[in-house]
Amino acid sequence: MELSYILNELGEERDSYFQAVAPPIIQTSNFTFKSVADFRKALANEYEATLYSRGNNPTVDILRKKLAALDGAEDALVFGSGIAAIATPILALLHQGDHVVSVAKPYSWTIKLFEKLLPKFGITTTFVDGTQVENFSNAIRPNTRLIYLESPNTFTYELQDIKAVSALAKKKGILTMIDNSYCSPLNQQPIKMGVDLVAQSATKFIGGHSDVVAGVVTGSKSIIKKIFDAEFLNIGGTISPMNAWLLIRGLRTLPIRLQRVCDSTKKVVDFLAQHPRVEKVIFPFHPGFTQYELAKKQMLDAGGLFSIVLKTDSVAGIEKFCNSLKHFLLAVSWGGHESLVIPSVVGFTPDQFDPANTNHRIIRLYVGLEDPDYLISDLKQALDT
Ligand SMILES: *Cc1c(COP(=O)(O)O)cnc(C)c1O
Repeated sequence: MELSYILNELGEERDSYFQAVAPPIIQTSNFTFKSVADFRKALANEYEATLYSRGNNPTVDILRKKLAALDGAEDALVFGSGIAAIATPILALLHQGDHVVSVAKPYSWTIKLFEKLLPKFGITTTFVDGTQVENFSNAIRPNTRLIYLESPNTFTYELQDIKAVSALAKKKGILTMIDNSYCSPLNQQPIKMGVDLVAQSATKFIGGHSDVVAGVVTGSKSIIKKIFDAEFLNIGGTISPMNAWLLIRGLRTLPIRLQRVCDSTKKVVDFLAQHPRVEKVIFPFHPGFTQYELAKKQMLDAGGLFSIVLKTDSVAGIEKFCNSLKHFLLAVSWGGHESLVIPSVVGFTPDQFDPANTNHRIIRLYVGLEDPDYLISDLKQALDT
């Protein structure tokens, strides 16, 4: 399916809404039936029915079709947050006594899911350094049901060889799931590399305007139906029609926003990489990146997030740099129009700072849609102070 078709036409049945170009926001909780027989049929198979907006809603449905097609998947489920799109499928697919092998350092709330929530149900997790495929095979146990990936992660950007890990999992009958938020479907296609389930925080590149929190998971119809029929309806982490509509709007410009972000990021990275005050730049598409070859092999492009380590061993130096930035806003999240900065020192108090720990000195930057030269001059003046 062509990208332009997916983003501009797929799922949009304009005959049923006055030929309006923009789809309607079907802001309703419930749907009515003409007969008891029709009502009964809908109740018996809610996955195929328009019954109640915790399950299906026509505006959300347009979005689901587009997001599934973007990933090359059979179906998609959309959630009220990215973490709901990660936690709900995992809760649906795992049972008491199951074991997960997860890449080390996935998204913070994913770590909490594996370390705090799943153990309540007798599900255990082993975290492995995902840069070596053998680490996954060595961690597999007879009760391993899921291999969880996030390639790259959003702070230090370690990659996993997605094809190799998926092939290993398939051989052993283990499900694979990946958090593909960093790349979005435009820059990485995990289903084509053999992954079963692809999750994404739609809050980031899909929404793209820092005004919606949402998530998506895509996969085969059989797995998506299994998730829908139980945990999706039971946990109820659904998205509102209004927010689904905003994501459809976000999708219209996804390719040009991402292109701009990726092009600008490279310019900003090149500037920082040669700056005398910068010790190190960490970005998958920078030739100095440890897994540069793998990045080039499995990712179509990269941009937005990258990290730097400054040549300073004081919290004050890091804080001064971040506080001096005028156009990179101090905030969590990423993927919107605005450039952002988050130093790892926000996560602890200054007396806990260990200058020998490179991770303590990392500063994550997100390059948004501003002119790259505007951003570079901001970074330059902040480095000079
Ligand atoms: C933001 C993020 C999430 C969580 O998504 P929310 O929409 O905030 O719930 C998951 N994974 C990654 C990589 C993220 O950046």
